[in-house]
Amino acid sequence: MEVFKRLRETKHEQVVFFRDQHAGLRAIVAIHSTTLGPAIGGVKMSEYTHEDAAVEDALSLSRALTYKAACAGLNFGGGHTIVIGDPRKQRTEALFRALGRFIDSLNGRYIAAEGVGTTVEDMDYIRMETKYVVGIPSSKGGSGDPSPVCAFGVFRGLEACQVFLSELDAVKGLHVAVQGVGRVGSRIVDMLLARGATVTIADPDAEAVSRVTSKHAVTIVSPNEIYDVDCDVFSPCALGGILNDDTIGRLRCKVVAGSANNQLADERHGAELHRRGVLYAPDYIINSGGLINVAEELSGYDSERAMRKAAGIKDVLLKILDSARANGIPTYEAADRFAEERIEQVGRVRRSYLAS
Ligand code: NAD
Repeated sequence: MEVFKRLRETKHEQVVFFRDQHAGLRAIVAIHSTTLGPAIGGVKMSEYTHEDAAVEDALSLSRALTYKAACAGLNFGGGHTIVIGDPRKQRTEALFRALGRFIDSLNGRYIAAEGVGTTVEDMDYIRMETKYVVGIPSSKGGSGDPSPVCAFGVFRGLEACQVFLSELDAVKGLHVAVQGVGRVGSRIVDMLLARGATVTIADPDAEAVSRVTSKHAVTIVSPNEIYDVDCDVFSPCALGGILNDDTIGRLRCKVVAGSANNQLADERHGAELHRRGVLYAPDYIINSGGLINVAEELSGYDSERAMRKAAGIKDVLLKILDSARANGIPTYEAADRFAEERIEQVGRVRRSYLAS
């Protein structure tokens, strides 16, 4: 990989490589932008077949965080850490404390949070070495599990899609197909049923399915069948890359609105949904409740305030959908423009010197 060429292409500010031999740590911290404020973003732990793939993952995840924070109205930029390793075997106190010390050396330019393959307990170890981490367990005064706020934001986003399509806030009577009923998906199912929707679910984890069916009457289909369900809304709450060449033609819905990150396998799939008349709620807008929740921790966590801020996802999404319609562009593109405009405008304001 030609690193500087890639950083120019992706417009990154900084990429740092950290290594601690004794703790077995190999980590990459990518800082995409600090125009709006310190870069915030998750710590992902995963194995990679090649180091280039780990760097690419750090670049793509940190860029997405810049856009997510900008659209959520937060004063944060985007960053992300990749820890190379198997989270089932290599998650140790020493590894996360070593990472915490390295993060501390960035002096607040990057604030870490829980990510794929890491837990709130790992964030607690990082916290022993640096204050630049959020997503600490609620028992220790942190914001804890962000899933309730994330799910609420997705639900508000789903309402925004209905307002946009019909001028009605009507969830009652909708049929929603939920892919994945884990921490976020199961809560979305609760809210949908409470508001009179009907729900079809799919999840390969039998326990996750039975946690839902023990409370609710829902239809269950296999993970492969969920794309073919004739429904109003397809709600992907499991995996990234699920809007792709194989799945888009199978969808029988008017709206795609779910919590999963990186739903479009490629941007052209966002254009394809637009061409087919399927309304796509851009993932990083509708699932920004999780980020809103952890960001709240920095000003003293208050769950009601986090919920109130996540409620605002509805208005942001409506603005983006209106702008996509007015400009005749796919919704993912309207979301990117919305983020870029805010970064550009706030960046200009911040050019003038202020004596401290
Ligand atoms: P989770 O791990 O609790 O739940 C995911 C569920 O998806 C699991 O039950 C899993 O069995 C299921 N699943 C896996 N493969 C599937 C398949 N092929 N078909 C159907 N189901 C499948 O995760 P979560 O915290 O609920 O997050 C769900 C998604 O939302 C993830 O993509 C995550 O990155 C994203 N997200 C979550 C948050 C949050 O606050 N938890 C915030 C932002 C984004």
